[in-house]
Amino acid sequence: MKDTTSIDMKENKQKKQLIIQGAAISSGYAQGIIHLQPGLLGPIDVPVNGTQLNVEEEFTRLDQATAKISNDLMMLATQVEKEIDTHLAEVFGVHKQILDDHLLKDELRKEIVDNLVTAGSAVKSVFLRWEKRFLLMESRIAREKGDDLRDVSIRLRNALAGIITHPLEKIPENCILVTQRLLPSDTVFLNSRSTAAVLLEYGAKGSHAALFARQLGVPCISEIPKILEKLSNGDTALVDGNLGVLTVNPGCKAITSFQKTVEKDKQIHQAAQKRAICPAVTLDGVRINVNANVGCHEDTSKAYRNGADGIGLYRIEQFYIGRTSPPSSDELLDEMCHTLSSVKGQLVCVRLLDVGADKPLPFVGFMAETNPALGRRGIRFLREYPELLYTQLKAIISLMADYEVQILVPMVTMPVDVLVVKEMLQTVCIEHDVSILPKLGAMIETPAAALSASTIAPHVDFMSFGSNDLTQYAFAADRENASVESYYNDDADVIFRMMELVHNDVPDMPLSICGELAGCKEHIRRLLLCGITSLSVAAPLVPIIKETVRKTKIT
Ligand code: PEP
Ligand code: MG
Repeated sequence: MKDTTSIDMKENKQKKQLIIQGAAISSGYAQGIIHLQPGLLGPIDVPVNGTQLNVEEEFTRLDQATAKISNDLMMLATQVEKEIDTHLAEVFGVHKQILDDHLLKDELRKEIVDNLVTAGSAVKSVFLRWEKRFLLMESRIAREKGDDLRDVSIRLRNALAGIITHPLEKIPENCILVTQRLLPSDTVFLNSRSTAAVLLEYGAKGSHAALFARQLGVPCISEIPKILEKLSNGDTALVDGNLGVLTVNPGCKAITSFQKTVEKDKQIHQAAQKRAICPAVTLDGVRINVNANVGCHEDTSKAYRNGADGIGLYRIEQFYIGRTSPPSSDELLDEMCHTLSSVKGQLVCVRLLDVGADKPLPFVGFMAETNPALGRRGIRFLREYPELLYTQLKAIISLMADYEVQILVPMVTMPVDVLVVKEMLQTVCIEHDVSILPKLGAMIETPAAALSASTIAPHVDFMSFGSNDLTQYAFAADRENASVESYYNDDADVIFRMMELVHNDVPDMPLSICGELAGCKEHIRRLLLCGITSLSVAAPLVPIIKETVRKTKIT
């Protein structure tokens, strides 16, 4: 826990204790002083009389500000890559692409000429128009692009107004930062040394802010309406990032109970960490593999440090999204080798590209779909673009020299979905003189796949439950949509019953799970009773899940 202050009890007695329930988006505990930061999204405009405006001068100012921001973004990317994560650094590459976009540049100039406005005003209105277009789109990725645009717009306007320091550079050390929303560039100024916790009005579990907070290990609670009005600077607070509970101006009783919880949690984690490297064996002697889900080099290093038995889910979408052309198999292999360098010799289960629908690729002409989650996702998409599948398989088999490689097919609904991969895998292996094929698995993440496991089974070597999508499709509840969150129950009987059914229908099939449910301590026993012998969880959870397995009896 980040304990940042000794709370002033006398002061607290005068203020009323307030308990607020928000959404837990990054786990951990913190105790500290509230710092309100209202201005992160505030526009800075210098008004100029239209008749005095010199268009050429505004063009020059715009060009200079753009060049400066471009340079800053490159430096930020380097800093983030060094201090946080390569994948996250790519966010700033995307921002640079926005700045370099010719359509956007032309529209900015046109705005200055047509409306005789300053470069700053032009940036404000043009970016707002673009942002609105993205925010109106259904896809989550497109909506996140809206955030990126806003971020670049603020940078540009600040540069045009001659403002060079970022508000977060001046926040008090170890405070609990309270703001409406965090944009990617804000998060660079938030490092684990200076921020105890973050409280937000807006920020979904999958947002940039959540991603950065988790990577930095900073507890974060979001979805607290009117947060800036509810709290005051200098308030003391207890942040429970595990449960999403915020206690403002806590009384003695709340503080004592919070500190006890934190101490207990610390001891549990320390004990788990000490034994992280040891195998996870149940009380009745069954060895369970506890693997990690990874997407970038940092995740994999954490997986290694936390004693993961292998990589149970390697998501490769980040190599495709944000590119203007697909990677070649050599490029893909290079990226994979970089991501996996810390786990050489271990099991690596690479999931084939799971894009389509709400994760469109810029270099593929996607048709708009009314129900994207039910559209051309995962293997459905790859079946339409076999050249993309071929490139991946070629890169993956090249990994076999250094890793125990497995391949996982996403969004399987019918046997043909795995058959096409198997056939192409055989061809690629023959072409490249590979005599032993890597193991092929089907993700069981649609009810159709779960209910027809026995027809899929003859074509695969293992199955992995994707409980995130299995829940979304079983409950017909969009996993990204907070307004149907109460329908999205990944630990409901329905989900376990489907897993039991698969185990009963194909009792000899090795079963694993790589959805978020695998990281829930309280459900480990039930998962193991469904015949699951491999759990794949977020890297920081590996030690505690191993410890949970060690305390479980399944016979
Ligand atoms: C899942 O659906 O449970 C899963 C692991 O895949 P993703 O979350 O990447 O869709
Ligand atoms: Mg899935």
